[in-house]
Amino acid sequence: MKFTKRIDKIPPYPFAILDQKKQEAIERGQDVISLGIGDPDLPTPQKIIDTLCKEAANPANHQYPSYEGMPVFRETAAEWMKNRFGVEADPKSEIISLIGSKEGIAHIYPAFVQLGDISLVPAPAYPVYNVATILADGTPYVMPLKRRSGFLPDFDIISTEVLKKARIMFINYPNNPTGAVASLEFFEKAVKFACDNDIILCHDAAYTELTFDDYEAPSILEVDGAKDVAVEFHSMSKTFCMTGWRVGFVVGNKDIIAGLSRVKTNIDSGLFQAIQYAAITAMNDVVDEQLEIRSIFQQRRDILVDGLKSLGWDVDLPKATFYLWAPVPTDETSVEFCSRVIKETGVLITPGVGFGEEGEGFFRICFTQSVERIEEAVGRLSKMKL
Ligand SMILES: *Cc1c(COP(=O)(O)O)cnc(C)c1O
Repeated sequence: MKFTKRIDKIPPYPFAILDQKKQEAIERGQDVISLGIGDPDLPTPQKIIDTLCKEAANPANHQYPSYEGMPVFRETAAEWMKNRFGVEADPKSEIISLIGSKEGIAHIYPAFVQLGDISLVPAPAYPVYNVATILADGTPYVMPLKRRSGFLPDFDIISTEVLKKARIMFINYPNNPTGAVASLEFFEKAVKFACDNDIILCHDAAYTELTFDDYEAPSILEVDGAKDVAVEFHSMSKTFCMTGWRVGFVVGNKDIIAGLSRVKTNIDSGLFQAIQYAAITAMNDVVDEQLEIRSIFQQRRDILVDGLKSLGWDVDLPKATFYLWAPVPTDETSVEFCSRVIKETGVLITPGVGFGEEGEGFFRICFTQSVERIEEAVGRLSKMKL
């Protein structure tokens, strides 16, 4: 079968080798501890499930939903933004529902990027920014995230040649895969940079609610003037352990949202209303359960970080997300190291290079397993020869 050039340009699935190693380990009868996938193991809070069940039974919810989300969903998202960040947004023009934030992230590119355009993408990163650029016939320009700069991009090193063609930029804090966070001052810099260079600024905010200790993640829309250039993608997935439900929203500049909406209306037909009602329950009514989710991940983080430190590994304590991103403790490549880890211990972790070449030399561990399993994993890692 002949695929299009743009499909052929998509980099090969980076985790394929590891999948194979995992399969081999299972076949050897090894007890595999999977710390590879960024998917919470905890169930969705019961209240959210109850709302879904009730609303799924209502025939009014069985027809096509509105493309942009029900007014009550958008109003609830607006209230949530106001209560959480002090950000005002018009539910009618500045918010639409998404079938998971990944869907919105991917579909914004065909609205604003075409052949000859550049898109600024961080690396290491969530792969969608890069791939969706390629699918829109744009050219990704990599903004490297370095540990010494707190995994924040340096806008000053981007040439005017690149800036002339740059149409859109993505950033993501708290960050996957590095666990890094950004201050409001950094967001101010990003907004100014986007304004000065006439670039659409997109902030992927999937992890703003998965924060630890006293840290509170800001919204980029808290910056004065952000709404002139920016939109922010929110997701219920990580916040409420709802990855399977596929629900999120985008908020911010109304023209950017109108562009995304034009793509979406022609491709999808909105979000099942029963899921929208369930998300409303999540935003309005799941405060204690959400705090509980955070505290469970915080405890796991502490055990993992303390454990790896006691082995002499060079790890930082992440203030948010369920990811630990750390340098490979040997002189192997990240794929060699992670392949040996699964072979010798049955612990599955992700090679950094899977998030772009800039991730080489690092690995990612997700603390999406129970404390017992994390302790078991650390115990096994302690027996590895480095
Ligand atoms: C998980 C994740 C998302 C996507 O979440 P959805 O389930 O599509 O809402 C978006 N961005 C990053 C960085 C993620 O890790």
